[in-house]
Amino acid sequence: MTTFNDFGLHADINRALAAKDYTIPTPIQVQAIPPLMKGRDLCGIAQTGTGKTAGFSLPSIHHLLTYPHRATPRGCRMLVLAPTRELAAQIAQSCRDYGRFTKLSVSTVFGGVPINKQIRDLAKGVDILVATPGRLLDLIDQRALRLDDVEIFVLDEADQMMDMGFIHSLRRVAKLLPSRRQNLFFSATMPKEIAGLADQFLNDPVTVSVAPQATTAEKVRQQITFVEQKEKQALLHHVLKTEDIDRALIFTRTKHGADRVVRHLAGAGIQAYAIHGNKSQAQRTTALQAFRSGQVRLLVATDIAARGIDVSGVSHVINFEIPNVPEQYVHRIGRTARAGAEGIAISFVAPDEKAYLRDIERVTRTRAEPVKLPDGFSEMVRNLPKPAQPPRNTGGKGRDPQRQREDAQRQRDGGKPRGDRGPRHEAAPAADGQGQRKRRFRPRRGGVGAHKGAVTRVG
Ligand code: AMP
Repeated sequence: MTTFNDFGLHADINRALAAKDYTIPTPIQVQAIPPLMKGRDLCGIAQTGTGKTAGFSLPSIHHLLTYPHRATPRGCRMLVLAPTRELAAQIAQSCRDYGRFTKLSVSTVFGGVPINKQIRDLAKGVDILVATPGRLLDLIDQRALRLDDVEIFVLDEADQMMDMGFIHSLRRVAKLLPSRRQNLFFSATMPKEIAGLADQFLNDPVTVSVAPQATTAEKVRQQITFVEQKEKQALLHHVLKTEDIDRALIFTRTKHGADRVVRHLAGAGIQAYAIHGNKSQAQRTTALQAFRSGQVRLLVATDIAARGIDVSGVSHVINFEIPNVPEQYVHRIGRTARAGAEGIAISFVAPDEKAYLRDIERVTRTRAEPVKLPDGFSEMVRNLPKPAQPPRNTGGKGRDPQRQREDAQRQRDGGKPRGDRGPRHEAAPAADGQGQRKRRFRPRRGGVGAHKGAVTRVG
């Protein structure tokens, strides 16, 4: 069995690993670390939760320590691009943890927070920079950052980047990078278009793959219940009452849908937080911390906001609405059953979602176990407590006029990710990719590639 000592990593890294109690590398780490230590490019097909962050950051930190030199002013030696601020913050934290016995500097830049502090942070140059694409380009445009000294470039969650319409930003970044560099490319799925993108970045890569989709899906106990859309809330209350839930992630397709679920739960005295692109960074951080610490057991999320979030002990994933892209389903249920733990995924399927369900079954090559509506369900629907009043800023009546103006503008812009248009709130709207999908949810055959606009789903 391989242990971390077998890799020949720098002693300061091994100390950090010991401090974190890591002894046995995960499969992706076993496959990825040796070729990365040799300077090879890497194409990794892996989801969050597999240990891929350590897989790419440990050998990179080793390289930075083995060839020590100062980063040039406004430059960085290693650049990691991630699709969302949550994921960027999480990767930066991992790099800080693994590099805690070194002097390496780690900075994070993403939209939705003031840019000036980020400009100041970058002035002297940093060793490791973790960024979302829109804010990265804003900083480059403001001459606060240059990429000509990047030695290691990591593109994480490439499929998600494409979904969020970051393709043009990525092409721009590619042109700004120096030609001599090591490239690492990660994606949970590898449809043709993503493989094409990988080709643009990678040079004779080693390809490693862990937990193919079907395997991930098979580890999770999957259930489905057919239910009318308007009765889903009652079903949710029933599930929350009867299931033995440690922590549940509840997925909705839209941001307003997420807020609605939270209000309905609040009406029944059940505490839950929502996390999506319309929430401020502070609200998102608070929600995530409360969920992580166990202070709140229920987190209602849209797909993109939840991507890359690593919370252990999620016993249930509840698909309040099922996604119209099968890969998204795989991402969702991958939030549970981490590290061999038992996980349950429960999907509420409305009549017009059945076509999506078929797509999901085809891609995952699994079939969920059907669970009937509970006895006395119509009674439960009738007795459902009224939702709490919508607070300001969360949609519906009394909605923040500023937010309404921004949404209207986004509609006119064709839903281009804000991060690519200007410095404000970059990952926020893109982080849900829903701003432009105002039209009603209708099943289409071949759900993949069904939506258009900024959410250029190319797979
Ligand atoms: P990642 O997929 O990189 O987000 O990692 C998922 C989780 O596994 C994180 O909480 C890591 O801290 C943890 N982890 C990564 N590698 C190991 C390892 N070799 N042993 C124990 N935990 C690990």
